Amino acid sequence: MDDKTPMMDELEKGPWPSYVKELKKAAKKSDAAKDLIKVQERSFEEKMTMWKHGGIVGVAGYGGGVIGRYISRPEEFPNVQAFHTLRINHPSGWFYKTDRLRELLDVWEKHGSGLCNFHGSTGDIIFLGTTSEHLQPIHDEITAIGWDLGGSGSDLRTPTGCVGPARCEYACIDTLDFIYNITMEFQNELHRPPFPYKTKIKASGCPNDCVAAIARADFSIIGTWHDNLRIDQDGVKEYLDSGFDVQGLVVNKCPTNALEMVNGKLELAWPEDCVRCMHCINMMSKAIRPGVDKGATILVGAKAPVIHGACLSSVIIPFMKMEPPYTEFKELWLKAMDWWDENGRTRERISELIDRVGMRMFLRAIDVEPVPQMVYRPRANPYVFFDKGV
Ligand code: SF4
Ligand code: SF4
Repeated sequence: MDDKTPMMDELEKGPWPSYVKELKKAAKKSDAAKDLIKVQERSFEEKMTMWKHGGIVGVAGYGGGVIGRYISRPEEFPNVQAFHTLRINHPSGWFYKTDRLRELLDVWEKHGSGLCNFHGSTGDIIFLGTTSEHLQPIHDEITAIGWDLGGSGSDLRTPTGCVGPARCEYACIDTLDFIYNITMEFQNELHRPPFPYKTKIKASGCPNDCVAAIARADFSIIGTWHDNLRIDQDGVKEYLDSGFDVQGLVVNKCPTNALEMVNGKLELAWPEDCVRCMHCINMMSKAIRPGVDKGATILVGAKAPVIHGACLSSVIIPFMKMEPPYTEFKELWLKAMDWWDENGRTRERISELIDRVGMRMFLRAIDVEPVPQMVYRPRANPYVFFDKGV
């Protein structure tokens, strides 16, 4: 077989980091990585993938965490005949100590291709490529050093949150503690798929939503504040003195016209109109801060297209206090999961079920009264943009 890989080589060129370079580095130690380069070159030539999805593989006591992958031409590429993927539950906010990472990756080099991805779209560390007989030893060795598998299949996928208060002054909730807490609480739902399909929980510390929860998670937790944002007039003066156009770039761009400049002072003139979009805070972070009565908005139903098109999530609870042990949130989530489990069809996400039977039925099932903040449209599709003059 021809070992030349001109198209893969092409991908190494240019100023950006290249995964091909990393694959070639790994190929010096791993026959699987060597074959993988050839597989990809062949896929480029034939414009067709060679990977077969699925197959029942896993580890004892778990139903998720491992994704079976097989190649359609094992005789040609024997070293990637089976090339299973493992998801490793990442710590909250993706903070690691390097010695702990080295321990983890030593296990992976011993039992797998050595290839990994930091991080998969769900948030986990992804170990790419091992065979069925290595799965249980990998699980046993990583759990012995304090790691665990993440979610896959019809279970609660590994919960994910932004770095929150660890590094960000905007955080209105402790995303790190919340994600750790619910990951521990819902271990059963994470490891033993009980649902009609996958379900995700993601938390962002403020409405900037750095983990894109509103576009991706069945349950999105978005930090917010109940009182009014805080404006420091000395800070505003500094912006004005530096020549910053507060009127043009901040006041005029507030989506609800809630701000006003009065005698050189920036005022939240219509606090009831502020929709907490973060624009003014992002633009003038040295002068404007979120309020002090902090909590989260809970939204339900984001997902990428499968049965129906892509959905953004809809507000279900406009404001909920988010303090340990997060009982109110957990009770709400369990009620929603029970209803979805009872009524959902196979591979139907909760948003699709809500779409099918109606938001009214969902709200009744979770004992929540309808409120005006539960705007359904135009949030239904994240790919619809509103453009002036169209
Ligand atoms: Fe900071 Fe908000 Fe982004 Fe979290 S979502 S990292 S709190 S800006
Ligand atoms: Fe306006 Fe958004 Fe600032 Fe509220 S947070 S005052 S809506 S720009």
